[in-house]
Amino acid sequence: MQKVYLDNAATTQVREEVIAKMQEALAEHYGNPSSTHSFGRTAKTVVEKARKTIAKTLNAQPSEIIFTSGGTEADNMILRCAVRDLGVETLITSKVEHHAVLHTAEELEKEFNVTLQFVDLDENGTPVLSHLETLLKQDDSKKLVSLMHVNNEIGNILDIESVAKLCHENGALFHSDTVQSIGHYPWDVQTVPIDFMVAAAHKFHGPKGIGFAFIRKNSGLKPFIFGGSQERGFRAGTEPFHNIVGLEEAFVKSYENLQEETRFVRGLKQYFIEKIAEKIPGVEFNGLSGDMGKSTYTLANIRLPFDKQKGLMLLFHLDMKGIACSKGSACQSGSNLGSHVLTQILATEELEKPSIRFSFSKYNTKEELDYAIDVLKEFAES
Ligand code: PMP
Repeated sequence: MQKVYLDNAATTQVREEVIAKMQEALAEHYGNPSSTHSFGRTAKTVVEKARKTIAKTLNAQPSEIIFTSGGTEADNMILRCAVRDLGVETLITSKVEHHAVLHTAEELEKEFNVTLQFVDLDENGTPVLSHLETLLKQDDSKKLVSLMHVNNEIGNILDIESVAKLCHENGALFHSDTVQSIGHYPWDVQTVPIDFMVAAAHKFHGPKGIGFAFIRKNSGLKPFIFGGSQERGFRAGTEPFHNIVGLEEAFVKSYENLQEETRFVRGLKQYFIEKIAEKIPGVEFNGLSGDMGKSTYTLANIRLPFDKQKGLMLLFHLDMKGIACSKGSACQSGSNLGSHVLTQILATEELEKPSIRFSFSKYNTKEELDYAIDVLKEFAES
């Protein structure tokens, strides 16, 4: 049976070059980066080289990059430490954030009595900047804003530069969950006045269980995980050396080939949205995911023109046909906020229609998309 992987927003296939570098690291460099002998020093040098490489591409300083176990930990670390250490009184976010942000925000509200506020969303699920401005100007409490750059479910892209500037001008700290953005979009932290952002290697063809936080110099954040003094005092514990090597290689390769890969994946998405509209009349796009100008090129979140009952069988059917994709609200997991991107932006009647997310990568082909669309069409007509 044909196997077609179209769930790249969930995670991506690891590059061969990454696997080779990780194997070498595991086999040959087994010193602890904190040890002072030559094995340890070698490991330390490699970790610091990775930090430098990442910092250079983002136009950051090496000391501003802290390795973490991934996007979730980096989001937790930044939000928690900012509230705990910087006297944040108001945390402004949106209901379409990833749960790594939303669940953390709920916990911080309970633990630190921080006031939680949500920016209004427009009919496409994009935060309304004039409302953000109103929230920023409402009082003189110390504020932290957390808004994601590229939405992982519906693919909307935030005007991050404007948001960063707005926060900056109003004296608020700005964190962005950039997990779906790093490795896919160019970044320069000197032109975007952002305080904190996060990355996960497995979203750009690197290994799982490794990511990083960008924490701007002199942020005032104190340690998050206590123990031995790795990761510049922020996060103790032996660094996962082989994963850091894999992260570095995946990061370098992504940015080395950024234009070419963007062009290719963009082309695939364009093909997908044209073909699916042609073959399945009545298909619609959630959020801005059908708008190539304003949404990410890596995913399309579609609403199918049949009822929910039939939709219940859909993902199962696609899986049986070897097609991996995700339900439209990919990271729904019962937050108290009831946050679930699609319920935030769609009317009830539209919600009754099944939604699914297809996400594309450099390893996909037009033939795979044809196959997935044909299977969907056959299902829609059955
Ligand atoms: N934020 C976003 C936007 C994501 O898409 C993900 C992964 N689903 C995460 C955070 C969590 O990252 P990780 O899987 O590395 O913990």
